[in-house]
Amino acid sequence: MQLIDGKATAAQIKAEIAEEVRQIVAGGGKRPHLAAILVGHDGGSETYVKNKVIACEACGFKSSLIRFEEDVTEDELLAKVKELNDDDDVDGYIVQLPLPKHIDEQKIIMAIDYRKDVDGFHPVNVGRMAIGLPCFISATPLGILTLLRRYGIETSGRKCVILGRSNIVGKPMAQLMMQKQYGDSTVTVCHSHSKTLKEECREADIIIAAIGRPDFVTADMVKEGAVVIDVGTTRVTDATRKSGFRLNGDVKFDEVAPKCSFITPVPGGVGPMTICSLMKNTLAAGKKEYYK
Ligand code: NAP
Repeated sequence: MQLIDGKATAAQIKAEIAEEVRQIVAGGGKRPHLAAILVGHDGGSETYVKNKVIACEACGFKSSLIRFEEDVTEDELLAKVKELNDDDDVDGYIVQLPLPKHIDEQKIIMAIDYRKDVDGFHPVNVGRMAIGLPCFISATPLGILTLLRRYGIETSGRKCVILGRSNIVGKPMAQLMMQKQYGDSTVTVCHSHSKTLKEECREADIIIAAIGRPDFVTADMVKEGAVVIDVGTTRVTDATRKSGFRLNGDVKFDEVAPKCSFITPVPGGVGPMTICSLMKNTLAAGKKEYYK
């Protein structure tokens, strides 16, 4: 079994990005600028955004954090989105999700200029990704693809089972694993109403678990030699930790790992790659790689 080290891979990619940024700036080019909108004080969102700012520093990007309190109105948020769309200095930006219930997330996403949508959530990017056109691919699926490539894992023609069908992970992951130029796999997507989920998993060469149910994937669901990618990050109470919680994956790591050819840990697997993919998208936005 080989452990897929997302932390080390992400560090390597960030160093590559930083070198490219250094060359761009040395050549008189513009330093890429990522902005982030954060609403409220949710612990998870605070951590994600803080890590994104740290990653920007590591890559040599300029970053801006724009904060709103939980009671911000939809109109106020839309006004800020418009301001960022019109700001030529901002190459890309994200609106950290989830947003408070009184705000229509889709309306906010639709208002983002797709040319600055480095999260890849705008329907233009989702649609272009679906038909294989250059675009911002959402960070978590892009990070997983990158891990599979960098570890030389063969995906073409292999059976890939994806657990979960969310817009940010399961669906785009399925699209990418299916497409010839990316995964080129035979893809099955399972969700909470799937009746043959266990059987599908048992036949899979590659399992990508993104459901948010700690320890859901057990050894009896995994065939010998399978590749297992664990996207799940659920906060579970842990009195031994200073924070009072730990991050738990969707895979029962200790019993599944010995059966795998490759497996990602939680934490240190997909998580760091997600942020690093956002950095890759920001670099592409700065270089106007997909859109003028
Ligand atoms: P989500 O929007 O809640 O979607 C969960 C999906 O899992 C849904 O499609 C749901 O099915 C399915 N599901 C839930 N319980 C299931 C069960 N018992 N059996 C089969 N399918 C089940 O979650 P998400 O945003 O995709 O995130 C999934 C997990 O990945 C979470 O733990 C999240 O924290 C983590 N995540 C990690 C990263 C990272 O960077 N590491 C990034 C994004 C997300 P239905 O559609 O039928 O409801």
